[in-house]
Amino acid sequence: MGARQGLQIGFFTVVLSGIIAAMIWNTSELNITLQDRTGQYVKDVSYQLASDITARIHWNELSLEQLADSVPRLQDKNGEEEFLNRKADILNFDTLFLIDCDGSTVPENVDVESLGELSGVRTSFEEGKTALIYAEGQNFLLFSTPVYRDGKVEEVLAGIRKEETMQALIQPKSFEGNGLSCIVDSEGKVIISPTDVKPFLQLEDIFASGSDTDTTNAITKMQEDMKNKISGVFTFTAVDSRQLIMSYHALEVNDWILLTLVPADLISGGASVYVFQSFVIVAATIVLFVLFILMTIRFYRKSRRELEKSAFTDPLTGGMNNAAFQRECQRLTEGAPLSSYTVVLLNVKGFKLINENFGIAAGNDTLRHIYNVLKMHLKEDEVVARGEADYFFLALRENNQLNIQLRLDKMIQDINSFTKYADIHYYLTIQQAACVVDEPGLNIRIVQDRARTALRMRKEEGGCAFYSSDLTERMKKEQELNVLFESAIRNHEFQVYLQPKVSLRDGAIGGAEALVRWNHPELGMISPADFIPVFEKNENICVLDLYIFEEVCRLLKRWRDTGCGMLPVSVNLSRAHFKNFNFLRAYADVKEKYGIPDGWLELEVTESVFFDEQQREVLRSSVDQMHAYGLLCSLDDFGVGYSSLGLLKETDVDTIKLDRQFFVDIENPKAQNVIESFIQLAEKLKIHIVAEGIETEKQLDFLRRVRCEMVQGYVFSKPLAPEEFDEWRRKRA
Ligand code: C2E
Ligand code: MG
Ligand code: MG
Repeated sequence: MGARQGLQIGFFTVVLSGIIAAMIWNTSELNITLQDRTGQYVKDVSYQLASDITARIHWNELSLEQLADSVPRLQDKNGEEEFLNRKADILNFDTLFLIDCDGSTVPENVDVESLGELSGVRTSFEEGKTALIYAEGQNFLLFSTPVYRDGKVEEVLAGIRKEETMQALIQPKSFEGNGLSCIVDSEGKVIISPTDVKPFLQLEDIFASGSDTDTTNAITKMQEDMKNKISGVFTFTAVDSRQLIMSYHALEVNDWILLTLVPADLISGGASVYVFQSFVIVAATIVLFVLFILMTIRFYRKSRRELEKSAFTDPLTGGMNNAAFQRECQRLTEGAPLSSYTVVLLNVKGFKLINENFGIAAGNDTLRHIYNVLKMHLKEDEVVARGEADYFFLALRENNQLNIQLRLDKMIQDINSFTKYADIHYYLTIQQAACVVDEPGLNIRIVQDRARTALRMRKEEGGCAFYSSDLTERMKKEQELNVLFESAIRNHEFQVYLQPKVSLRDGAIGGAEALVRWNHPELGMISPADFIPVFEKNENICVLDLYIFEEVCRLLKRWRDTGCGMLPVSVNLSRAHFKNFNFLRAYADVKEKYGIPDGWLELEVTESVFFDEQQREVLRSSVDQMHAYGLLCSLDDFGVGYSSLGLLKETDVDTIKLDRQFFVDIENPKAQNVIESFIQLAEKLKIHIVAEGIETEKQLDFLRRVRCEMVQGYVFSKPLAPEEFDEWRRKRA
């Protein structure tokens, strides 16, 4: 897990904790508010109930007092009894009766024990007041009021209301049956309790002092308040752990107090369902959110893995690509002693031809085949990758050039032993270059570049070109020359020198070869050996050759125009031209532009062109094309390395230029025989011969003897600037 991911998870946890804390705080605040509201609500409802009860009791007292005033006007006991029964029905008393100071009652049979002794009756007799008492043990309320006859209290009118009828009074109409009310006196003694005292608590338990000091304090305060007839409300935890709200209100009757008890969650209970639902919703949202994030992270990781895989895989071979090779190679070289590894670059020469001749699919198969063979040859801790196109890179755990070459030879041998295209008999030429990883901390990319440099700067075909530091220097110089090329053409720094060809038959000048010289204003005269191979690596040489050809045309035109006489001139053509079929068109155009007649211009093609399958093809058709354009063709440097007489019959060249190597040991009879036979053969084939690089009279004598036609060499003249050449001509004439 990265530091960034850790930070993100930390941030996410903090945010999540914040949300949960805010929700808990919110919920507790909501609960407090709801409890306050519930308390207030309970208080209001109880107040209402207390007022109702007080009003009812006062009404009962008042009715009794009014009734008492009517009693003296009644005639007899029977009338009284009948009157009392009737009124009891009307006024909702269970029983109404009169009691005199002797304790005798009307009606006589009153089902009440020692009625005259009850404190209320006594109060009415003794103090002449209306009183209300609760007859303990007999469970009824007794209202009593004095009956005055002649200003004296002779009787007391008493009305009984059984507890049941009183209970109806205190049944709370609110709280949806969840509440409980009762009337107690200031000592806490229950006066009237509801029929069903069960909804949540036994009344006796109300004042059961618990260990909870808050509740104990609240109850003490309530007892104080009750004595002083002050209303109040408080919350406490009951013995069954339920939160309850107790509200107390003084009734304006005796020292009676109305107690109302409701569950604390009366209102918040409903709300807590919603709070709980909110918690569930938020929790579900968080879970979904976390799941979403986890899925996103999974998706991101998966696509990153896939991206990484495709970024490091070569789709063609299924193996490593160059990026993977660099990474892996860097890891291997860093974990091994210095100079343990060599990075090898392999390139299939002329791979384009495979694609063109056999198709892209066959080309791809070939690349896969090469990759598989190379892979098979790897030892432990070695890697191979297709770099790009037909380039392969190997990281071999070797540093000995000989061992590397042996291993590469074996690989290439195996690559070429494949049978799939056996009927085609195609041989893959694989160019090889290598660079030893011999600098600490060297980036593999640089090592690869060095291998590329070695490949580009190799002097000879075949074998592995090993990188050395002077190659970089050489490459830099080459790059400099390439940079200078364009301006050199523009500034006419390239000059034509002419070397005469002399006829041995009569000693006359038979023609000249045009040879390029680079007269650089700062670097001085640069030899073609230094820049021609450089420009042959890119298209510059084609530009230069055409430039020289045009200079020669201009010269021929001048010779003709000035009347100093035309001479056949041969111009060198690099093998680089033979990559495309139509390059001669431009030459013909220039020839025409200067109005040079046919037969005066000759193009020299080096013999090495024959050894490239494709170039040979182009050459064959090019020689015919040259003839069609009125140009002659000579085979230059014949005999340097590849000379094959068989080639002569394939093409229709006009002249063969025997390379100076032929004449180095001219005194050797074998060499003499070869030259003589060759001259005779050429004569038969009607091909002209020019002996090149002739320096001595001895060589010249021999050539005269074997009747060589034409000679070019220092023995007559070095290549000369055009003015010098004119001068030389004049002198010889
Ligand atoms: P080349 O076409 O075989 O030209 C003959 C080379 O032999 C010339 O070298 C010439 O100076 C040298 N040479 C002539 N006689 C003697 C001799 O008696 N002894 C010795 N040792 N050398 C002699 P140069 O001018 O240095 O040119 C070298 C090569 O550069 C040419 O070989 C040719 O392949 C190439 N080259 C020169 N000019 C051009 C050009 O305009 N275009 C192209 N593509 N190649 C050119
Ligand atoms: Mg030449
Ligand atoms: Mg030559």
